[in-house]
Amino acid sequence: MSNIENFLTASEEGAIVSAIRDAEKDTSGEIRVHIEYNCDTDVFEHAIEVFHYLKMDNTKEQNGVLIYVAVDKKAFVIYGDKGINESVSDNFWNSTRDTIASYFQKGEYAQGLIEGITKAGKEMSKDFPWIHGDTDELDNTISKG
Ligand code: CA
Ligand code: CA
Repeated sequence: MSNIENFLTASEEGAIVSAIRDAEKDTSGEIRVHIEYNCDTDVFEHAIEVFHYLKMDNTKEQNGVLIYVAVDKKAFVIYGDKGINESVSDNFWNSTRDTIASYFQKGEYAQGLIEGITKAGKEMSKDFPWIHGDTDELDNTISKG
């Protein structure tokens, strides 16, 4: 894996964006994926910075969830806003993380992200169901930095 462009193929990126769109059909919550090649600092701290940088704290119900990937470290972080943390169980984070990790270990990054997005969306839909008039508050495209 020489650079960030090789991490996911164009069709894998398309499949991930579709997974986000599908997940958001059942929940008012917002999911985003951010991919970075280098992360020199603590990945968790940095994921929080990215969360704010992407203005993901700017949702009405504070229900944005970021999946941040540091390609060089093959590391990822799932970070949810206050509204999410107040409603879903701790087990949600652990089981979603374990699902993604099991694919990452096999080098199946795109599939791991898709499974994680789908799982997160299902869980979010219980506490934040899609309601008529819901808007797409955060872009579904993958951001890179
Ligand atoms: Ca929404
Ligand atoms: Ca969205």
